[in-house]
Amino acid sequence: MIPYGRQEITEPDIEAVKDVLKSDFLTQGPVVPIFEHKIASTVDAKHAIAVNSATSALHISCLALGLGPGDWLWTTPNTFVASANCGLYCGANVDFVDIDPKTLNMCVKGLENKLVSAEKLGKLPKVIIPVQFSGKSCDMERIHWLAKLYKFKVIEDASHAIGGLYQEQPIGSCKYSDITVFSFHPVKIITTGEGGVAVTNNEDLAKSMRRLRSHGITRDVSEMNSELHDPWYYEQIDLGFNYRMTDIQAALGLSQLQRLSDLICRRHEISAYYDSCLVDLPLKIPSHNDDCYSSLHLYVIRLNLDKLYKTRREIFDELRAAGIGVNVHYIPVHTQPFFQRLGFRMGDFPESEKYYSEAISLPIYPSMTEGDKKRVVSAVRNSIML
Ligand SMILES: *Cc1c(COP(=O)(O)O)cnc(C)c1O
Repeated sequence: MIPYGRQEITEPDIEAVKDVLKSDFLTQGPVVPIFEHKIASTVDAKHAIAVNSATSALHISCLALGLGPGDWLWTTPNTFVASANCGLYCGANVDFVDIDPKTLNMCVKGLENKLVSAEKLGKLPKVIIPVQFSGKSCDMERIHWLAKLYKFKVIEDASHAIGGLYQEQPIGSCKYSDITVFSFHPVKIITTGEGGVAVTNNEDLAKSMRRLRSHGITRDVSEMNSELHDPWYYEQIDLGFNYRMTDIQAALGLSQLQRLSDLICRRHEISAYYDSCLVDLPLKIPSHNDDCYSSLHLYVIRLNLDKLYKTRREIFDELRAAGIGVNVHYIPVHTQPFFQRLGFRMGDFPESEKYYSEAISLPIYPSMTEGDKKRVVSAVRNSIML
């Protein structure tokens, strides 16, 4: 089976991990801060806080921004459940803004309309989490403008998008957001096994997130209440967690990060090949945006079901039977049973639901061979044309 995504692990990656295994520190050693500096410089942000998953990064981002009971967090239904769950972890309420069917990202016009109504009801959101779906940036400039007007904070869920650009700046530079989060799960652009990072230009947010990832504890004298500073002394300032990344993981991430632009170039080659081979079929290939350079985490085709004699499910099953590990991103979050229990209903976000009913993610990952790409294309063409 050709999977929809997979990691690429090289000999230097393995050597880097081995070096940590033979060193004095498996965790809380020197490699995590080195990795953090390298992430920060790569994405052009001042601070990076490495953690054990993007889910943890989203959680501590929300807490650092003061999200709590009674507050509202808005995100998009076309995402992984973690983008919404982080608000619920903080005791806040969660709501969604439907997607723009052209970009598959949060619709900014829809956001603006919803803000106007929410203001009248006195229920403006405290935090909004736009998701850079498939690696392509949202209209962050406009979202930032709305954030100033309606006084909400912005966390970019860029789990898909490390290495991408928006208006020629790296996603993660936080020009238009408070915090940006990346995931290092093995299907994402680079991996640490499990892992994630939050980046920000705001020093107070960085300090707060650093404490929250490690029990709420600080060893930094400037953050302490007490004047007494015995050598063993530390203070717990907040209720934090153990969300730390290990040095083993950071070493893998650091080694992977050196190949970031090459990994994304190879994704672009695959995407361009698919574009050219599939453009004549009754389906939509991914749209490209002039002000974005996508990291191309996903390559999603949208079937034109009116022109096909098969259902999405039939095409999906045929592709799987042909050894193509296709997938679907995403089941709209509000349709999950847990979110239905919170009161959301089918039909609440029709663009996300319609998109979902037509979508199939084709395999895309840097180590795909020429043969793999051809097999994918011929399986898709056969399934759709026959
Ligand atoms: C993968 C993903 C996450 C969660 O990342 P983890 O590192 O697995 O916790 C969150 N949001 C989006 C959009 C994702 O794709």
